[in-house]
Amino acid sequence: MSIRKGFLIVGGGLVGLATAYRLLARFPSARVTLLEKETRVGVHQSTHNSGVLHAGLYYAPGSAKAKLAVSGIRQMTAFCRQERIAHEICGKLVVAVTPDELPRLDELLRRGLANGLKGLRKIDPAEMRKIEPYVNGIAAVHVPEEGIVDYRQVCDRLALRVQEQGGLIVTDAKVEHLERKGGTWVAGTAREEFHADFLINCAGLQCDLVAKLAGEPRDIRIVPFRGEYYHLRPEARHLVKNLIYPVPNPQFPFLGVHFTRTIHGGIEAGPNAVLAFAREGYRLTDFDTRDLLDALFFPGLWRFLRKYRATAYAELIQSFSKTHFCRALQRLVPEIRTIDLASGGAGVRSQAMKSSGDLMDDFHLLVRQNALHVLNAPSPAATASLAIGEYIVDRLPD
Ligand SMILES: Cc1cc2nc3c(=O)[nH]c(=O)nc-3n(C[C@H](O)[C@H](O)[C@H](O)COP(=O)(O)OP(=O)(O)OC[C@H]3O[C@@H](n4cnc5c(N)ncnc54)[C@H](O)[C@@H]3O)c2cc1C
Repeated sequence: MSIRKGFLIVGGGLVGLATAYRLLARFPSARVTLLEKETRVGVHQSTHNSGVLHAGLYYAPGSAKAKLAVSGIRQMTAFCRQERIAHEICGKLVVAVTPDELPRLDELLRRGLANGLKGLRKIDPAEMRKIEPYVNGIAAVHVPEEGIVDYRQVCDRLALRVQEQGGLIVTDAKVEHLERKGGTWVAGTAREEFHADFLINCAGLQCDLVAKLAGEPRDIRIVPFRGEYYHLRPEARHLVKNLIYPVPNPQFPFLGVHFTRTIHGGIEAGPNAVLAFAREGYRLTDFDTRDLLDALFFPGLWRFLRKYRATAYAELIQSFSKTHFCRALQRLVPEIRTIDLASGGAGVRSQAMKSSGDLMDDFHLLVRQNALHVLNAPSPAATASLAIGEYIVDRLPD
Protein backbone atom coordinates (compact mmCIF):
# COMPACT_ATOMS: atom_id res chain seq x y z
CA MET A 1 0.00 0.00 0.00
CA SER A 2 1.40 3.34 -1.04
CA ILE A 3 -0.31 6.36 0.49
CA ARG A 4 0.57 9.62 -1.27
CA LYS A 5 -1.99 12.38 -1.32
CA GLY A 6 -1.82 15.48 -3.51
CA PHE A 7 -2.14 15.20 -7.28
CA LEU A 8 -2.44 11.89 -9.11
CA ILE A 9 -1.85 11.96 -12.86
CA VAL A 10 -2.90 8.91 -14.86
CA GLY A 11 -0.85 8.55 -18.05
CA GLY A 12 2.80 9.23 -18.81
CA GLY A 13 2.54 10.55 -22.35
CA LEU A 14 3.55 14.10 -23.22
CA VAL A 15 0.34 15.59 -21.81
CA GLY A 16 0.66 13.83 -18.43
CA LEU A 17 4.39 14.51 -18.17
CA ALA A 18 4.04 18.17 -19.16
CA THR A 19 1.20 18.59 -16.67
CA ALA A 20 3.36 17.14 -13.88
CA TYR A 21 6.22 19.43 -14.94
CA ARG A 22 4.02 22.55 -14.98
CA LEU A 23 2.34 21.60 -11.66
CA LEU A 24 5.69 21.31 -9.92
CA ALA A 25 6.89 24.57 -11.47
CA ARG A 26 3.79 26.37 -10.12
CA PHE A 27 3.58 24.54 -6.76
CA PRO A 28 7.10 23.29 -5.93
CA SER A 29 5.99 21.69 -2.68
CA ALA A 30 3.02 19.84 -4.21
CA ARG A 31 2.96 16.08 -4.00
CA VAL A 32 2.66 14.83 -7.59
CA THR A 33 2.39 11.16 -8.50
CA LEU A 34 2.19 9.99 -12.12
CA LEU A 35 1.12 6.43 -12.92
CA GLU A 36 1.98 4.92 -16.30
CA LYS A 37 0.78 1.46 -17.30
CA GLU A 38 3.74 0.67 -19.59
CA THR A 39 7.28 -0.05 -18.44
CA ARG A 40 8.47 3.29 -19.86
CA VAL A 41 6.88 6.71 -20.31
CA GLY A 42 5.78 7.96 -23.73
CA VAL A 43 5.41 4.71 -25.63
CA HIS A 44 2.06 5.40 -27.29
CA GLN A 45 0.97 8.48 -29.23
CA SER A 46 3.74 10.68 -27.87
CA THR A 47 6.46 8.77 -29.70
CA HIS A 48 4.40 7.21 -32.50
CA ASN A 49 3.82 10.45 -34.34
CA SER A 50 5.27 12.57 -37.14
CA GLY A 51 7.65 14.49 -34.90
CA VAL A 52 6.38 17.81 -36.22
CA LEU A 53 6.19 21.10 -34.32
CA HIS A 54 2.89 22.58 -35.51
CA ALA A 55 2.65 26.37 -35.37
CA GLY A 56 -1.17 26.76 -35.36
CA LEU A 57 -2.09 27.08 -39.04
CA TYR A 58 -5.13 24.84 -39.27
CA TYR A 59 -7.18 25.62 -36.19
CA ALA A 60 -10.26 27.82 -35.89
CA PRO A 61 -9.21 31.19 -34.44
CA GLY A 62 -10.24 31.41 -30.80
CA SER A 63 -10.30 27.62 -30.32
CA ALA A 64 -8.25 25.98 -27.57
CA LYS A 65 -6.24 24.20 -30.28
CA ALA A 66 -5.32 27.50 -31.94
CA LYS A 67 -4.31 29.21 -28.69
CA LEU A 68 -2.42 26.24 -27.30
CA ALA A 69 -0.63 25.38 -30.56
CA VAL A 70 0.61 28.95 -30.96
CA SER A 71 1.83 29.25 -27.40
CA GLY A 72 2.76 25.54 -27.32
CA ILE A 73 5.31 25.66 -30.13
CA ARG A 74 7.02 28.61 -28.38
CA GLN A 75 7.08 26.77 -25.06
CA MET A 76 8.25 23.52 -26.68
CA THR A 77 11.08 25.14 -28.65
CA ALA A 78 12.16 27.09 -25.54
CA PHE A 79 12.22 23.81 -23.57
CA CYS A 80 14.21 22.08 -26.33
CA ARG A 81 16.72 24.96 -26.48
CA GLN A 82 17.11 24.99 -22.70
CA GLU A 83 17.47 21.20 -22.55
CA ARG A 84 19.54 20.87 -25.75
CA ILE A 85 16.99 18.52 -27.32
CA ALA A 86 17.28 17.88 -31.06
CA HIS A 87 14.87 20.13 -32.96
CA GLU A 88 14.88 22.39 -35.99
CA ILE A 89 12.56 25.08 -37.35
CA CYS A 90 12.71 24.13 -41.02
CA GLY A 91 9.41 25.49 -42.39
CA LYS A 92 6.63 23.71 -44.25
CA LEU A 93 4.66 23.97 -47.49
CA VAL A 94 0.91 23.28 -47.66
CA VAL A 95 0.24 22.67 -51.33
CA ALA A 96 -2.91 23.08 -53.45
CA VAL A 97 -2.79 20.76 -56.44
CA THR A 98 -6.17 21.45 -58.08
CA PRO A 99 -8.20 24.69 -58.43
CA ASP A 100 -10.97 23.44 -56.11
CA GLU A 101 -8.38 23.39 -53.28
CA LEU A 102 -7.55 27.09 -53.64
CA PRO A 103 -10.44 28.45 -51.50
CA ARG A 104 -9.45 26.01 -48.74
CA LEU A 105 -5.80 27.06 -49.02
CA ASP A 106 -6.93 30.71 -48.69
CA GLU A 107 -8.96 29.78 -45.63
CA LEU A 108 -5.85 28.19 -44.05
CA LEU A 109 -3.91 31.37 -44.77
CA ARG A 110 -6.70 33.43 -43.15
CA ARG A 111 -6.77 31.18 -40.09
CA GLY A 112 -2.98 31.19 -39.74
CA LEU A 113 -2.84 34.98 -39.95
CA ALA A 114 -5.73 35.32 -37.46
CA ASN A 115 -3.85 32.97 -35.12
CA GLY A 116 -0.83 35.31 -35.28
CA LEU A 117 1.61 33.14 -37.26
CA LYS A 118 4.60 35.10 -38.50
CA GLY A 119 6.01 35.09 -42.03
CA LEU A 120 3.03 33.18 -43.46
CA ARG A 121 2.73 33.71 -47.23
CA LYS A 122 0.89 32.37 -50.23
CA ILE A 123 3.43 31.55 -52.95
CA ASP A 124 3.35 30.56 -56.64
CA PRO A 125 4.80 27.39 -58.25
CA ALA A 126 8.14 29.05 -59.11
CA GLU A 127 8.69 30.06 -55.49
CA MET A 128 7.42 26.69 -54.24
CA ARG A 129 10.10 24.96 -56.27
CA LYS A 130 12.83 27.16 -54.82
CA ILE A 131 11.86 25.72 -51.44
CA GLU A 132 10.99 22.17 -52.58
CA PRO A 133 12.46 21.52 -56.05
CA TYR A 134 10.34 18.41 -56.79
CA VAL A 135 6.96 19.64 -55.53
CA ASN A 136 3.89 19.76 -57.76
CA GLY A 137 1.04 22.23 -57.28
CA ILE A 138 -0.61 25.44 -58.38
CA ALA A 139 -0.11 27.42 -55.14
CA ALA A 140 1.11 26.89 -51.61
CA VAL A 141 1.20 28.47 -48.20
CA HIS A 142 4.69 28.66 -46.72
CA VAL A 143 4.76 28.29 -42.93
CA PRO A 144 8.28 29.26 -41.88
CA GLU A 145 7.70 28.76 -38.13
CA GLU A 146 7.05 24.99 -38.24
CA GLY A 147 9.69 22.43 -37.43
CA ILE A 148 10.68 18.96 -36.34
CA VAL A 149 11.74 17.52 -33.00
CA ASP A 150 12.67 14.32 -31.19
CA TYR A 151 9.63 13.71 -28.96
CA ARG A 152 11.29 10.66 -27.34
CA GLN A 153 13.95 12.98 -25.92
CA VAL A 154 11.26 15.42 -24.81
CA CYS A 155 9.39 12.66 -22.91
CA ASP A 156 12.52 11.38 -21.18
CA ARG A 157 13.72 14.87 -20.23
CA LEU A 158 10.32 15.87 -18.83
CA ALA A 159 10.27 12.66 -16.76
CA LEU A 160 13.76 13.41 -15.44
CA ARG A 161 12.89 17.00 -14.51
CA VAL A 162 9.65 15.92 -12.79
CA GLN A 163 11.58 13.40 -10.68
CA GLU A 164 14.28 15.96 -9.85
CA GLN A 165 11.52 18.30 -8.62
CA GLY A 166 10.25 15.62 -6.24
CA GLY A 167 7.51 14.11 -8.43
CA LEU A 168 7.06 10.35 -8.30
CA ILE A 169 6.71 8.48 -11.61
CA VAL A 170 5.62 4.87 -11.29
CA THR A 171 5.74 2.74 -14.44
CA ASP A 172 4.14 -0.67 -14.95
CA ALA A 173 1.26 0.78 -12.91
CA LYS A 174 -2.01 0.48 -14.79
CA VAL A 175 -4.87 2.16 -12.95
CA GLU A 176 -7.52 -0.55 -12.84
CA HIS A 177 -10.00 1.01 -10.47
CA LEU A 178 -10.75 4.40 -9.01
CA GLU A 179 -12.89 5.16 -6.03
CA ARG A 180 -13.73 8.17 -3.82
CA LYS A 181 -13.38 7.30 -0.15
CA GLY A 182 -14.01 10.07 2.40
CA GLY A 183 -12.90 12.88 0.09
CA THR A 184 -9.85 10.98 -1.21
CA TRP A 185 -9.28 9.24 -4.53
CA VAL A 186 -8.08 5.66 -4.20
CA ALA A 187 -6.45 4.39 -7.38
CA GLY A 188 -5.81 0.68 -7.56
CA THR A 189 -3.10 -0.94 -9.68
CA ALA A 190 -2.25 -4.66 -9.69
CA ARG A 191 0.38 -4.14 -6.97
CA GLU A 192 -0.44 -1.02 -5.00
CA GLU A 193 -3.06 1.54 -4.06
CA PHE A 194 -2.38 5.26 -4.40
CA HIS A 195 -4.33 7.95 -2.57
CA ALA A 196 -4.84 11.46 -3.92
CA ASP A 197 -6.81 14.63 -3.33
CA PHE A 198 -7.03 15.53 -7.01
CA LEU A 199 -7.08 13.30 -10.07
CA ILE A 200 -5.82 14.33 -13.51
CA ASN A 201 -6.67 11.91 -16.30
CA CYS A 202 -4.19 12.11 -19.21
CA ALA A 203 -4.65 8.53 -20.40
CA GLY A 204 -4.68 9.29 -24.15
CA LEU A 205 -6.22 6.36 -26.02
CA GLN A 206 -7.78 5.09 -22.77
CA CYS A 207 -8.96 8.45 -21.38
CA ASP A 208 -12.71 7.77 -21.73
CA LEU A 209 -12.29 4.41 -19.95
CA VAL A 210 -10.32 6.00 -17.11
CA ALA A 211 -13.02 8.72 -16.85
CA LYS A 212 -15.60 5.93 -16.61
CA LEU A 213 -13.60 4.32 -13.75
CA ALA A 214 -13.90 7.70 -12.02
CA GLY A 215 -17.69 7.62 -12.44
CA GLU A 216 -18.06 9.88 -15.47
CA PRO A 217 -20.68 9.16 -18.15
CA ARG A 218 -19.30 8.06 -21.52
CA ASP A 219 -21.18 10.44 -23.79
CA ILE A 220 -18.09 10.89 -25.91
CA ARG A 221 -16.01 7.90 -26.92
CA ILE A 222 -12.41 7.49 -28.03
CA VAL A 223 -12.24 5.98 -31.48
CA PRO A 224 -8.77 4.86 -32.55
CA PHE A 225 -7.51 5.90 -36.00
CA ARG A 226 -4.28 4.21 -37.03
CA GLY A 227 -1.83 6.25 -39.09
CA GLU A 228 0.65 4.23 -41.17
CA TYR A 229 3.95 5.49 -42.53
CA TYR A 230 6.42 4.58 -45.25
CA HIS A 231 10.08 5.63 -45.30
CA LEU A 232 11.66 6.98 -48.44
CA ARG A 233 14.58 4.80 -49.47
CA PRO A 234 17.92 6.69 -49.39
CA GLU A 235 18.05 7.06 -53.20
CA ALA A 236 14.71 8.98 -53.17
CA ARG A 237 15.38 11.23 -50.17
CA HIS A 238 16.57 14.11 -52.35
CA LEU A 239 12.95 14.51 -53.55
CA VAL A 240 11.91 16.11 -50.25
CA LYS A 241 13.82 18.72 -48.28
CA ASN A 242 11.57 19.37 -45.28
CA LEU A 243 7.78 19.22 -44.78
CA ILE A 244 5.28 19.00 -47.66
CA TYR A 245 1.58 18.74 -46.80
CA PRO A 246 -1.61 18.64 -48.88
CA VAL A 247 -4.63 20.89 -48.27
CA PRO A 248 -6.60 18.79 -45.77
CA ASN A 249 -10.13 17.50 -46.22
CA PRO A 250 -12.19 19.99 -44.16
CA GLN A 251 -14.57 17.24 -42.94
CA PHE A 252 -11.76 15.37 -41.22
CA PRO A 253 -9.48 16.56 -38.41
CA PHE A 254 -6.54 14.71 -40.01
CA LEU A 255 -4.04 16.41 -42.29
CA GLY A 256 -3.77 13.96 -45.22
CA VAL A 257 -0.67 11.92 -46.11
CA HIS A 258 2.37 14.18 -46.23
CA PHE A 259 6.15 14.16 -46.28
CA THR A 260 8.14 14.82 -43.13
CA ARG A 261 11.88 15.04 -42.67
CA THR A 262 12.71 13.45 -39.35
CA ILE A 263 15.12 15.11 -36.95
CA HIS A 264 17.65 12.28 -37.25
CA GLY A 265 17.80 12.09 -41.05
CA GLY A 266 15.24 10.12 -43.07
CA ILE A 267 12.03 11.17 -44.79
CA GLU A 268 8.68 9.71 -43.75
CA ALA A 269 5.54 9.60 -45.85
CA GLY A 270 2.14 9.34 -44.18
CA PRO A 271 0.22 8.92 -41.98
CA ASN A 272 -3.14 7.83 -43.37
CA ALA A 273 -6.11 7.56 -40.97
CA VAL A 274 -7.68 4.11 -40.79
CA LEU A 275 -10.26 3.02 -38.22
CA ALA A 276 -8.39 0.57 -35.98
CA PHE A 277 -9.70 -2.64 -34.39
CA ALA A 278 -7.64 -2.03 -31.24
CA ARG A 279 -6.85 1.16 -29.34
CA GLU A 280 -3.19 0.24 -29.23
CA GLY A 281 -3.21 -1.71 -32.50
CA TYR A 282 -0.15 -0.70 -34.47
CA ARG A 283 -0.54 -3.36 -37.19
CA LEU A 284 -3.38 -3.77 -39.65
CA THR A 285 -4.11 -7.21 -38.19
CA ASP A 286 -4.13 -6.12 -34.52
CA PHE A 287 -7.45 -6.83 -32.92
CA ASP A 288 -8.80 -6.36 -29.40
CA THR A 289 -12.21 -7.84 -28.65
CA ARG A 290 -13.02 -5.39 -25.86
CA ASP A 291 -12.09 -2.36 -27.98
CA LEU A 292 -13.94 -3.68 -31.01
CA LEU A 293 -17.16 -4.46 -29.13
CA ASP A 294 -16.95 -1.12 -27.37
CA ALA A 295 -16.77 0.64 -30.74
CA LEU A 296 -19.46 -1.52 -32.38
CA PHE A 297 -21.96 -0.84 -29.57
CA PHE A 298 -21.41 2.91 -29.85
CA PRO A 299 -24.13 4.39 -32.10
CA GLY A 300 -21.82 7.32 -32.94
CA LEU A 301 -19.51 5.00 -34.90
CA TRP A 302 -22.36 3.81 -37.15
CA ARG A 303 -23.50 7.39 -37.73
CA PHE A 304 -19.90 8.34 -38.56
CA LEU A 305 -19.61 5.46 -41.04
CA ARG A 306 -22.89 6.44 -42.72
CA LYS A 307 -21.72 10.07 -43.10
CA TYR A 308 -18.11 9.42 -44.09
CA ARG A 309 -18.33 6.00 -45.76
CA ALA A 310 -16.41 7.09 -48.87
CA THR A 311 -13.53 8.68 -46.93
CA ALA A 312 -13.27 5.77 -44.48
CA TYR A 313 -13.23 3.31 -47.40
CA ALA A 314 -10.58 5.30 -49.31
CA GLU A 315 -8.33 5.32 -46.23
CA LEU A 316 -8.77 1.56 -45.83
CA ILE A 317 -7.84 0.93 -49.47
CA GLN A 318 -4.76 3.12 -49.02
CA SER A 319 -3.82 0.97 -46.03
CA PHE A 320 -4.01 -2.27 -48.02
CA SER A 321 -2.50 -0.95 -51.24
CA LYS A 322 0.92 0.63 -51.48
CA THR A 323 0.00 1.74 -55.01
CA HIS A 324 -2.93 3.80 -53.70
CA PHE A 325 -0.79 5.24 -50.93
CA CYS A 326 1.88 6.17 -53.47
CA ARG A 327 -0.74 7.81 -55.71
CA ALA A 328 -1.72 10.17 -52.87
CA LEU A 329 1.97 11.07 -52.44
CA GLN A 330 2.49 11.55 -56.19
CA ARG A 331 -0.06 14.38 -56.17
CA LEU A 332 2.52 16.33 -54.15
CA VAL A 333 5.77 14.89 -55.56
CA PRO A 334 5.10 13.16 -58.91
CA GLU A 335 8.55 11.56 -59.12
CA ILE A 336 7.94 9.27 -56.12
CA ARG A 337 7.53 5.63 -57.19
CA THR A 338 6.27 2.67 -55.18
CA ILE A 339 9.78 1.18 -55.13
CA ASP A 340 10.97 4.31 -53.31
CA LEU A 341 8.72 3.44 -50.35
CA ALA A 342 9.80 1.07 -47.58
CA SER A 343 7.35 0.10 -44.83
CA GLY A 344 7.61 2.32 -41.79
CA GLY A 345 5.95 2.37 -38.41
CA ALA A 346 2.48 3.40 -37.35
CA GLY A 347 0.77 5.38 -34.64
CA VAL A 348 -2.77 5.29 -33.31
CA ARG A 349 -4.61 8.58 -32.80
CA SER A 350 -6.88 9.00 -29.84
CA GLN A 351 -9.85 10.81 -31.37
CA ALA A 352 -13.00 11.67 -29.44
CA MET A 353 -16.30 11.05 -31.21
CA LYS A 354 -19.71 12.37 -30.18
CA SER A 355 -22.77 10.13 -30.24
CA SER A 356 -23.89 12.11 -33.32
CA GLY A 357 -20.95 10.52 -35.16
CA ASP A 358 -19.09 13.84 -35.41
CA LEU A 359 -15.41 13.87 -34.57
CA MET A 360 -14.57 16.36 -31.86
CA ASP A 361 -12.25 18.91 -33.35
CA ASP A 362 -11.06 20.98 -30.41
CA PHE A 363 -9.16 19.90 -27.31
CA HIS A 364 -11.63 18.96 -24.59
CA LEU A 365 -11.18 18.97 -20.80
CA LEU A 366 -13.82 17.97 -18.28
CA VAL A 367 -13.22 19.85 -15.01
CA ARG A 368 -14.78 18.64 -11.76
CA GLN A 369 -14.32 19.76 -8.17
CA ASN A 370 -11.74 17.05 -7.48
CA ALA A 371 -10.77 15.78 -10.93
CA LEU A 372 -9.85 16.92 -14.41
CA HIS A 373 -10.16 14.65 -17.43
CA VAL A 374 -8.38 15.37 -20.72
CA LEU A 375 -10.90 13.79 -23.09
CA ASN A 376 -9.63 14.98 -26.46
CA ALA A 377 -5.97 15.79 -27.06
CA PRO A 378 -5.19 14.82 -30.65
CA SER A 379 -2.61 16.55 -32.87
CA PRO A 380 -1.09 19.09 -32.22
CA ALA A 381 -1.12 18.03 -28.56
CA ALA A 382 2.51 16.85 -28.70
CA THR A 383 3.64 20.32 -29.82
CA ALA A 384 1.21 21.96 -27.40
CA SER A 385 1.82 19.64 -24.44
CA LEU A 386 3.63 22.19 -22.27
CA ALA A 387 0.93 24.78 -23.01
CA ILE A 388 -1.78 22.19 -22.25
CA GLY A 389 -0.03 21.43 -18.95
CA GLU A 390 -0.07 25.14 -18.09
CA TYR A 391 -3.74 25.43 -19.19
CA ILE A 392 -4.62 22.49 -16.92
CA VAL A 393 -2.84 24.02 -13.94
CA ASP A 394 -4.72 27.30 -14.57
CA ARG A 395 -8.01 25.43 -14.47
CA LEU A 396 -7.55 23.58 -11.20
CA PRO A 397 -10.32 24.54 -8.79
CA ASP A 398 -9.08 26.41 -5.68
C1 LIG B 1 0.18 9.04 -36.22
C2 LIG B 1 0.22 10.28 -35.38
C3 LIG B 1 0.89 11.42 -35.83
C4 LIG B 1 0.91 12.56 -35.03
N1 LIG B 1 1.71 13.62 -35.40
C5 LIG B 1 1.85 14.68 -34.55
C6 LIG B 1 2.79 15.70 -34.82
O1 LIG B 1 3.58 15.62 -35.77
N2 LIG B 1 2.84 16.77 -33.99
C7 LIG B 1 2.00 16.89 -32.89
O2 LIG B 1 2.06 17.90 -32.20
N3 LIG B 1 1.14 15.90 -32.59
C8 LIG B 1 1.06 14.79 -33.38
N4 LIG B 1 0.23 13.76 -33.04
C9 LIG B 1 -0.60 13.87 -31.84
C10 LIG B 1 0.21 13.66 -30.56
O3 LIG B 1 1.16 12.62 -30.69
C11 LIG B 1 -0.76 13.37 -29.43
O4 LIG B 1 -1.79 14.31 -29.46
C12 LIG B 1 -0.07 13.45 -28.06
O5 LIG B 1 1.08 12.65 -28.05
C13 LIG B 1 -1.05 13.00 -26.99
O6 LIG B 1 -0.33 12.79 -25.79
P1 LIG B 1 -1.02 12.07 -24.56
O7 LIG B 1 -0.10 12.20 -23.43
O8 LIG B 1 -2.42 12.63 -24.45
O9 LIG B 1 -1.25 10.57 -25.04
P2 LIG B 1 -0.26 9.32 -25.02
O10 LIG B 1 1.08 9.67 -25.52
O11 LIG B 1 -0.97 8.23 -25.74
O12 LIG B 1 -0.12 8.96 -23.49
C14 LIG B 1 -1.15 8.42 -22.71
C15 LIG B 1 -0.50 7.49 -21.72
O13 LIG B 1 -1.47 7.02 -20.79
C16 LIG B 1 -1.12 5.70 -20.43
N5 LIG B 1 -2.30 5.05 -19.86
C17 LIG B 1 -3.46 4.76 -20.48
N6 LIG B 1 -4.30 4.16 -19.63
C18 LIG B 1 -3.68 4.08 -18.44
C19 LIG B 1 -4.04 3.52 -17.17
N7 LIG B 1 -5.25 2.96 -16.96
N8 LIG B 1 -3.15 3.59 -16.16
C20 LIG B 1 -1.92 4.17 -16.34
N9 LIG B 1 -1.53 4.68 -17.54
C21 LIG B 1 -2.40 4.64 -18.58
C22 LIG B 1 -0.66 5.11 -21.76
O14 LIG B 1 0.11 3.94 -21.59
C23 LIG B 1 0.10 6.26 -22.36
O15 LIG B 1 1.48 6.22 -22.07
C24 LIG B 1 0.21 12.59 -33.80
C25 LIG B 1 -0.45 11.44 -33.35
C26 LIG B 1 -0.42 10.28 -34.11
C27 LIG B 1 -1.05 9.04 -33.56
